[in-house]
Amino acid sequence: MTLPRFKRILLKLSGEVLMGQGQFGIDPATCERVALEIKAAKDAGHEICLVVGGGNIFRGLAGAAQGIERTTGDYMGMLATVMNALAMQSTLERLGVDTRVQSAVQMDKICEPFIQRRADRHIAKGRVVIFAAGTGNPFFTTDSGAALRAAEMKCDALFKGTSVDGVYDADPKKVATAKRYDSLGYGRVLADNLKVMDAAAVALCRDSNIPIVVFNIREPGNLAAVLRGEGTATIVQNENEYA
Ligand code: UDP
Repeated sequence: MTLPRFKRILLKLSGEVLMGQGQFGIDPATCERVALEIKAAKDAGHEICLVVGGGNIFRGLAGAAQGIERTTGDYMGMLATVMNALAMQSTLERLGVDTRVQSAVQMDKICEPFIQRRADRHIAKGRVVIFAAGTGNPFFTTDSGAALRAAEMKCDALFKGTSVDGVYDADPKKVATAKRYDSLGYGRVLADNLKVMDAAAVALCRDSNIPIVVFNIREPGNLAAVLRGEGTATIVQNENEYA
């Protein structure tokens, strides 16, 4: 598949990506593997914004199911994303990649607050900026946070790193005949409720005309390969784009 050259990308990683083979928490070896992917993309000349989820530690909805008030649970989830952001910061810096963490919820002992112009300046200086705490609001997700930051940072595309190599018309782990799309429109994703990102995030990308590239982050070297237009991925975009 030929992709246009995306200079500035926002990479969204679910918390689950960071737990490796485990069932919970942060696996340092997996963080390092993911950090190497980011370093390779950066070394190839791309500007990288990173948004990490928190599902490997805490989700507000799961807390609510066990009696934790939803808003409180969502703030706990946002705090989980800050832990993941710090883990990725530490790992990237160990590999020699300069970073800054900016949080949607202010915590000035730990990281910077989100300030778009300042984030832009960090990127201009060659740093990877890691955005933590999603949108800073309960009842949202880090997918929506990623779409929002991608729009604010004028990213050319939102890269969603998953454990499959794109978007399928059915779950490829359950349905042997599931077909992978090379490219599809935002409308189809929303109408068919395809599991790309949550609907609010997809709609925000559609309205800001930001393509979503879904690819397998677990395959070594894949982020840089997809960015070169060589890997396997699905691009979600306005239907007539690049036709
Ligand atoms: N969260 C929130 N507002 C946001 C982003 C996240 O309330 O803008 C909370 C929410 O409770 C969510 C948790 O943080 O369940 C972890 O984020 P998410 O589920 O998006 O993480 P992921 O699935 O990507 O690991």
